[in-house]
Amino acid sequence: MKLYMQVLIALGLGLKRNWHIFAGLIIGVFAGIWLHKNPQPEVMAALTFIGQLFIRMIQMVVIPLVISAIVIGITSVSDTKQIGKLGGKMIFYYAIISVLAVIVGSTLAIIFEPGLGAASYINSEFAAGIQDQVAHSIEAQKGNLLNIVLGFVPKNPLSAIAAGDMVPILLFTVIFSVALAKVGEINRPFVSFFESIFAATMKITDWIMCFAAPGVFALTAVAVSHFGVEIFTTISKYLGVLALGFGIQLFVIYPLFLRVFSKVPFWMLYAAIAEAMMVAFGTASSSATLPLTIACCEKRGISHKVTSFVIPLGATLNMDGTALLQVVAVIFLTQAYGVVLDPFMLVQICLLAIVASSTCAGIPGAGLITIALVLNGMGLSHDQLVTGFAFLFTVERITDMMRTLVNVTSDAVVAAAIADNENEINYDLLNNPEEYNDVIG
Ligand code: ASP
Repeated sequence: MKLYMQVLIALGLGLKRNWHIFAGLIIGVFAGIWLHKNPQPEVMAALTFIGQLFIRMIQMVVIPLVISAIVIGITSVSDTKQIGKLGGKMIFYYAIISVLAVIVGSTLAIIFEPGLGAASYINSEFAAGIQDQVAHSIEAQKGNLLNIVLGFVPKNPLSAIAAGDMVPILLFTVIFSVALAKVGEINRPFVSFFESIFAATMKITDWIMCFAAPGVFALTAVAVSHFGVEIFTTISKYLGVLALGFGIQLFVIYPLFLRVFSKVPFWMLYAAIAEAMMVAFGTASSSATLPLTIACCEKRGISHKVTSFVIPLGATLNMDGTALLQVVAVIFLTQAYGVVLDPFMLVQICLLAIVASSTCAGIPGAGLITIALVLNGMGLSHDQLVTGFAFLFTVERITDMMRTLVNVTSDAVVAAAIADNENEINYDLLNNPEEYNDVIG
């Protein structure tokens, strides 16, 4: 059978199984367009409530799930040298994917020049309401790289957990789990405790997912209702370049990556994680999607050992979609304001985007704020930065939905490649979407 037919059939099976989430997404788009033209404050308030309820319910299980998954994942690797090997490979794969993302983003932005002439329509009236917030975040990020790194080490792990700071939580959990693996059999009661927590949180995730279709519908409708079609005309080239970049990541880079590093057919993987991709798009949050990404991978052939280690770390540290956006956004602003970029500055933008994206939280809007880190030293005045940023904020949500989908997909791509390399993948299940276990209900 021809490749494109296999892809269509697998994606079709993915959608058939999840038709209700997909329907929620599509109806949400139309409802949002209608609401933009006919504002209904009560309906908006109700939809916002439903959407937030859905996100909060998933967020409720994220921290116990991440901690228990990592503890079980790392302690299940009996040989501690193997943990290092697995971790090293994970970082290597995530780095390859992020480097490719910034290369794709910068190449497209240089070829299509989306920012050329944009200064004429970027003016200070744009999104005047958020300019203060933007100015504040630019200030907060200035010269802040070392402080950000310092902030990764929690002074008190319990307060990091209480505050929901994912990177410090991850760092502590990984160190703690490696120590547990080293101490041997004495760790059993503790590991059993986390096995129970993991099983219970996965059960809760199943229940919450019954609510995925109305949740995704409400979130999409509210997001789309804020856009308005007008904005797409002025900023359409920027959006077009981003959409093309995300498309290249999804349909060229990841398939190539999987072909080079594994035997995993990308269309099967996409069919397996279709629910997670749709929820990522609807929620614009990799953290909120994390329980579902884990459930999709585990129930469809990728071993618990690999999933529980690679996916939580990826959902926090691997943000290649965000890095791609940051590169395009920064080049857009420099083009708009006529700053000429030399090759050295381009490389600097790409490297800083990788760092800035991996320090950003997996929550809506985090990626655009951390761009401030990349913009330092680009020769833009403070006013240009603030108005340019505020302008980009007007299409923030739609770009966030797209880049989050990319971020979540790449986590699963790397997990699948590592599972293949380690013989931790059940191909009879992964390549057979008809047999997939349901993650909903
Ligand atoms: N919303 C993105 C995510 O959760 C992060 C970002 O703002 O780029 O993956």
